[in-house]
Amino acid sequence: MLSVRATRMPTIEAATLTSAVRRVRSLNSRTTNLAEAFRKREADRAAQDIAIGVKLLTLGELKPQECRWPIVGPEGIRFCGHTANGTYCEAHSLRAHGGA
Ligand SMILES: [Zn+2]
Repeated sequence: MLSVRATRMPTIEAATLTSAVRRVRSLNSRTTNLAEAFRKREADRAAQDIAIGVKLLTLGELKPQECRWPIVGPEGIRFCGHTANGTYCEAHSLRAHGGA
């Protein structure tokens, strides 16, 4: 036979609860701000990619001297394809090193 044991709910003081709620709200706010900053940065980068005219090449289309900066879109991963100096073109080399 199944028996159910009554458990006593722990009591939390109102001040403790208020403090915990305040901390959770603060964390939620910071998380929202970080997520918003991330979305804005990604939108800025997408706008930059459009401005520099990325070619959106497939891996098979990419030649050795072309920029290998990956761009994820609805069609999967594509590559910048501009003339590269090393791995990336000038714009993406800057971005890779935190310049933009
Ligand atoms: Zn590039």
